[in-house]
Amino acid sequence: MRVYISADLEGVAGVVSPGQLMSGPAYEEACRWMTAEVTAAVRGAQRAGALQVMVNDAHESMTNLRLEELPPGVEVISGKPKALGMMCAIDEGWDLAFLLGCHARQGSGGLLSHSYSAATIARLRLNGCEVGEVGFNAALAGGCHVPVGLVTGDAAAAAEALELFPAIRTVAVKWACGRQSARTLTPGEACRRIEAAAAEAVAATVAKKANDAGVASTAGAPSGTRDVIPAGAIASWPPQPPYTLEVEFTSPVMADAVAYMPMTRREGPCRIVMEQAELPALFRAFQAMLTIAGAVAP
Ligand SMILES: [Zn+2]
Repeated sequence: MRVYISADLEGVAGVVSPGQLMSGPAYEEACRWMTAEVTAAVRGAQRAGALQVMVNDAHESMTNLRLEELPPGVEVISGKPKALGMMCAIDEGWDLAFLLGCHARQGSGGLLSHSYSAATIARLRLNGCEVGEVGFNAALAGGCHVPVGLVTGDAAAAAEALELFPAIRTVAVKWACGRQSARTLTPGEACRRIEAAAAEAVAATVAKKANDAGVASTAGAPSGTRDVIPAGAIASWPPQPPYTLEVEFTSPVMADAVAYMPMTRREGPCRIVMEQAELPALFRAFQAMLTIAGAVAP
């Protein structure tokens, strides 16, 4: 049983303001809370039978986790740039993915909401469906046949996950009062809930795999198959190939520069559209768009 974790910071309990996201004493404290939530998820997963757990540090510098505080038996992907960014190293070898510390997409009412880059991205649509980080990252996991077993973050991020996967397990750790204020659980209570949910998610997957293997051995069906879509999910998610990404930038100058990229189509002052047969290729191209747009940002 192998569990992949992508960990962001904005959706961690107690984190409510931009001053906690970049540097300084408040940021150092937030990193410890983030590490504690990841630790809780790892402990829950291990308790329920996960033999391998890897955590991808997915916020800003991607060097936020306090490695010495993490429990034994976990590996960390740290730093950037890295292919697939927030979902670096996701592939078909994982049995289950967790998205931790999530925030809602740009333009939503969520706490600290944005989509990969508040400065450059106004809106993202994947195969016609408006997505933020939860949606795009979950699509990448789904494209690798890895179900997302747990999403944690503020209530708006959890709601966004439930829109896509109505049966998904979520833990809301805070409720926005505004974009930079929230009613929040304490770090200790958030960790308690996250550890319990992580254990439940892994236990459910272990039970499902055992059941699938039993059904396969009695019915002669091929073994080793996994559901791409968790039970109860809407049929259209994760999206199926070919993949179309519509990116609405915050300034036309960003679209001007991104339009130099091959295989892009300009569809408006700020809008670039790209189609790809493979989702990882589309996400890598999106990473290049973010880099280019950031370089010419006014
Ligand atoms: Zn972040």
